[in-house]
This record gives sequence, structure tokens and C-alpha cells, in this order.
Amino acid sequence: MPPWQNRKGIRPLTINPRFPRKEHYVVIIIMKHPTTPQERDDITQHIAGVRTLLEESGFRATVSQGVDLAVVGAVGKLEPEQAEALTHRISAMSGVQSVRRVSTPYKLVSREYRSAPTLIPINGVKVGGNQVVVIAGPCAAESPEQLRQTAAAVKACGAHAFRAGAFKPRSSPYSHQGLGEVGIVLLGQLRIESGLPVVTEITRIDQLSLLVEKADVLQVGMRNMDNYELLRALARTSKPVLLKRNTAASLDQLLQAAEYVVRGNGQVILCLRGIIGLQGLETRAQADLDAIPLLKAKTHLPVIFDPSHAAGRADLVTPLSLAAIAAGADGLIVEVHPDPANAISDNEQQLTFAQFGVLMRGVKAVAAAVGRTV
Ligand code: PEP
Ligand code: MN
Repeated sequence: MPPWQNRKGIRPLTINPRFPRKEHYVVIIIMKHPTTPQERDDITQHIAGVRTLLEESGFRATVSQGVDLAVVGAVGKLEPEQAEALTHRISAMSGVQSVRRVSTPYKLVSREYRSAPTLIPINGVKVGGNQVVVIAGPCAAESPEQLRQTAAAVKACGAHAFRAGAFKPRSSPYSHQGLGEVGIVLLGQLRIESGLPVVTEITRIDQLSLLVEKADVLQVGMRNMDNYELLRALARTSKPVLLKRNTAASLDQLLQAAEYVVRGNGQVILCLRGIIGLQGLETRAQADLDAIPLLKAKTHLPVIFDPSHAAGRADLVTPLSLAAIAAGADGLIVEVHPDPANAISDNEQQLTFAQFGVLMRGVKAVAAAVGRTV
């Protein structure tokens, strides 16, 4: 035994066995393009072979079969050396053209994992496709009449879904905190009467069963983007989730938050709503319009924009909405109120019905200019 091993305070360097050496990996395998009838016959078998090996290594694999290209995407957890060995084994398999291994803090939400856009159906419309989807309604549910009038007005202008909060996270404990369960019951009635799907915010796990029953889309507000327990609970539902970017979060942090949900529930709509800007800005937040094309490149999930909370003022809501659609947003979530000046929350940013009509006309024109429908 070398003498240094006995010296007090010095021991050989060992790796802590509890240190998690396993990492998540995404493996993307591009299969060879078959050119002869024999190769075309063989390729199915080759894909099956790749898939079996991945699954035996504990990976979840999906096959995307295009007209002349097949791609196998898989996600799983291995020690780095094992991942290296698996990559080599796959590269040597028949029919494999190339293998790429990616280790990022998010996997399932990445474009590498799934190249086709994810479409999220809400009633009849699909978010994430060619159609621009507009969600509109008041900041907070205030009364049956306020909800009814707003739903009728936004529907008449062409909105596809209704928004209103009943559990309101407010910066001040003295501000109106929302109607709570009473508000959710009102929204449940409105959903049936108006025929519009309802988007509403969840702030705590114990609201889940009520909201799953009464709403169509569960909104996670920017303050809860980092509430991992809530995100894990949402992964156990099959309701679409509208996840808002925290004003201080990077895009990778937003995607990691989405990954928590997507591990169990693939129906996540990302929502940008402005980020912290310079002090003394004239707006509530800095409109993060650059994040629209950036996110669309990083993820297959739909990306929508909230001009109301980004601007914090009604006069900027329409120009920002049009810019967002031009930049490639899959939709908008906009605050609209019958009498914004007397709204119980966010009264400077909510649009009147007439202003919303103007917004919708602009959205239709810009959407048409970029080859999309509304
Ligand atoms: C809202 O949409 O009403 C809301 C509170 O949004 P955010 O979480 O973006 O502040
Ligand atoms: Mn609001």
C-alpha cells in the first residue's frame, strides 16, 4: 500500500457513487435513402433493428417516415461512456446514414427530437399549424354579465377562445385576488353558453381537479413558470397547458420548464409576454418579439404572444400583435374588457370591443401577407 494512503487527511480520489453520472440524451438517426427496390424492402427491417437496440438501452424512440427520408429520434438516460458506445453501435448498423447525439437540458421539446410542429387542438381549432389562433377576454372574471358581453363581442370579431382569470396572482396582496372557485364556475357556464373554449390560470395544484373539469386550457402564469411541483402535476393531466415565460427567464429556462410538462403531457403552448427591460421604460415589459423566431427554431411546440402584459398599455397592443404575427407567432392572447377604465385589474392595457375589432382586422391582413389564415 503506498504510504500516502495512510497519511492523515489524504485519501485517494474516488468518485462519489451517489453522484448522478447518467445524463439525458437525444439521439437522432438518419436512415439511408433507399434507391433500389431491395433497399426499399430492407429499410423497414433496418429501422426496426435500430429501434429495438434503442429500446433495449432504455430509450423512448419515435420514427418519422417522410417520402424519401426516415428519421429515428430517441430520448433516454445513460452514462456518458455508455452513450458513446451506443452511438458507435448504431452507426455501424445496416441502413444507418448518420447518428447525432445531443445532450441539452431539454430533450422532448427540442426540434432535434421532433422536427414536425406540434399541433394542439382546442375545440375545433389547432394551435401550431397554419392558422393563427386568437384568445381574448378580460384580465379577470368579474361578473356573469361582464363575461357574457365580452365573450359575445370577441366571438363576433373572430376570436377562437376566451380568456379570464379567476385565481389571480397579484403583485400586491391588497389588489383584487380574483373570484376564485366562484369565478371558475362562472367560466364553466360561459364555456357551455358561448361555445368558446376557456383558458384560465392555475396557481396551485389543489385547483387542478376543478380546472380540468371546467376549463379547456390551463394557463401557467409567468410567476409560476418555475413552480416545478405545479409543472409536474400538469404533466399528469391531458389538458393543454399555456406556459408563460417568466420576465427574467432565458429561452432555455422556459424550454426546461416546458420539458417538465411534456414528459407526461405533450400539449404545451409557449407564451411570450415581455421580459424585464431597462428601468423607467414606458411599457410594462420589453416585448420579446425576437424570441418568437428563436423559439420556433429551437422547439416544435407552438409559440403565442401576449401583447397586453408586454405593453401594459392599450395603445401598443395592436401594433405589437401585428409584429408578433409577422414574426411567426402561432397566436395571440389579448385582454379585452367591456369598460377597461373600470376593470378591477390591468385597466390600462385592456382593449375595448371596438379596439379589439380593429386589432382583428389588422391580424387578418398581416396573417394573409405571411401566408397564414386566422
Ligand atoms: C394574465 O394573463 O392575466 C397574467 C397574470 O399574466 P402573466 O402571468 O403573464 O403576468
Ligand atoms: Mn392581466
